[in-house]
Amino acid sequence: MTKRQPLIAGNWKMNNNHFEAIALVQKLAFALKDKDYDNAEVVVLPPFTDLRSVQTLVDGDKLRIGFGAQDISAHDKGAYTGEISGPMLAKLECSYVLAGHSERREYHNEDDAVVNSKVKAAFKHGIVPILCVGEGLEVRKAGQQVEHVLSQLDGALKEIPAEQAERIVIAYEPVWAIGTGEVATPEDAQEVCAAIRVRLTELYSSEVSGAVRVLYGGSVKGDNAGDIMAKDDVDGALVGGASLKADEFAKIIRFNE
Ligand code: PEP
Repeated sequence: MTKRQPLIAGNWKMNNNHFEAIALVQKLAFALKDKDYDNAEVVVLPPFTDLRSVQTLVDGDKLRIGFGAQDISAHDKGAYTGEISGPMLAKLECSYVLAGHSERREYHNEDDAVVNSKVKAAFKHGIVPILCVGEGLEVRKAGQQVEHVLSQLDGALKEIPAEQAERIVIAYEPVWAIGTGEVATPEDAQEVCAAIRVRLTELYSSEVSGAVRVLYGGSVKGDNAGDIMAKDDVDGALVGGASLKADEFAKIIRFNE
């Protein structure tokens, strides 16, 4: 099996206007300069209103920083006020888009069927979905985390063919760890990430499960990133709060130094 390249993705959530976005990407590029971070792919996920500015900066300065969006409409165009479509994101050269983040599930009532339609929309337009799955505290306390996450996975991957599934990124993000400072142990992360990989083998094949990158997300910081990503089935991190600080995010990116 070829080694999977770690992916470190920064979810900025609803932070940074387009001027602040430029400053943050510049600071990140500076923090990474002269450092060997070829071992990891780096991606930022700014708000929609920042994407054009980030694209211009990344293109102009030939930065090795990729970018993507935090959401995608299931529809290509039309009377969907406030939505942003796959063709619009593709035109801005977005490589990635989040689907099924717990904040979208909670505040926008996105269920597995909606998430599945967004995964399909992303692939349709050549954008790689970063599919977020994860259990809440009650489910974790009941020890049902694996069943819960696998059911979200099954729902989100409905009718997704193997040639698309092998390119997806999955982020295991226990809801109780997001923005709380309470990080999962490396063993907790490994348990669920490994179960996700087994399910991908069952749904598709070992080629697909061996190719898919499974990230951990939830209060990742420079100090805890290395231990979590050392686990066999954890191929990187989806980072919220810590991605807003260039030095901290750079520290996570250099997790194995
Ligand atoms: C997230 O929002 O995806 C996330 C993991 O946030 P944080 O790192 O702040 O917990």
